[in-house]
Amino acid sequence: MTELSRRHLLAGTALAAAGAAGFALPQVATAAAPQSGQQGPGFYRFKVGDYEVTAVNDGTWYRKLDASFVRNAELPDVQKALEAAFLPTDVVPIPFTTLLINTGSKLVALDTGTGGVLTGMAPQSGTYAANLAAAGIDPKTVDAIYISHFHPDHINGIKGKDGGLFFPNASINVPEPEWAFWMDDGNMSRAPEAAQGSFKNARRVFDDIAGKVQRFAPGKEVEPGIMSIAAHGHTPGHTAFSVHSGNKSFLYIADATNNPWLFVRNPTWQAIFDADGNKAAETRKMLLDRAAADKMLTHGYHWPFPASGYITRTASGYELVPKMWSPTL
Ligand SMILES: [Zn+2]
Repeated sequence: MTELSRRHLLAGTALAAAGAAGFALPQVATAAAPQSGQQGPGFYRFKVGDYEVTAVNDGTWYRKLDASFVRNAELPDVQKALEAAFLPTDVVPIPFTTLLINTGSKLVALDTGTGGVLTGMAPQSGTYAANLAAAGIDPKTVDAIYISHFHPDHINGIKGKDGGLFFPNASINVPEPEWAFWMDDGNMSRAPEAAQGSFKNARRVFDDIAGKVQRFAPGKEVEPGIMSIAAHGHTPGHTAFSVHSGNKSFLYIADATNNPWLFVRNPTWQAIFDADGNKAAETRKMLLDRAAADKMLTHGYHWPFPASGYITRTASGYELVPKMWSPTL
């Protein structure tokens, strides 16, 4: 026993003896307030040069882990990787964190979240609207939306739960090859059963607003200081973005990795969601190499909130070094 704890024990014994002898004990504050039972708001803000970035969380999908989740790894190896990250081994946490970039003259959303309509599959998703409000951002003030790819957790938030446009004044910009793939009826008819839902969902989101949708070819500057990067593989037109202001740069890799403790540490692993597994792995390596070489602050849509960090190389892959929360911008 340390000297400190012995003294505490002796003091405690003396107090107990005093109480037993009928002396008044000092008043001690107790936790009379009820427990909150709720998480705080999920938004986080930081600067990239003169630009202000707000990460807005849309909850987490706890997907049941089965042998199909990583196509080219054995289930026990995947479970070992989860265990090494202090995560459960029966589900994979897949958080959703979108970005808003305020350039000073424009407010730009990169991806839009689940629209609150995936709660059947992911009951702990759909927190975007509340978190956006907590961040003090009115959806009416968003000028432009840029989409990385057409999976439901990225495009559904274009519309509110009522089917109307959630960002009524924003231009809607999507990667041309993504539109070409998902909106093609031939591709839909040839797609496997498991992909039918995503094809139908893309039509639900885009059919009645098709005239408003602008398509861009990845590889160009889409807004001042915001570059689109062809990052195909996860889906045929999957697109990453980099943000540049002053001498600072920031990389948004969208779904080039899913949960980082699996796919940053093991970049050759192919997730069930990767349409072209080999190409997705090549793209993942290309983006993570760039993040490591340029020491860029990097954001993954499915990384732990606030979903930004730095990438270092390891013997077998990469490591995510999460960004530290900062009380100031
Ligand atoms: Zn996703």
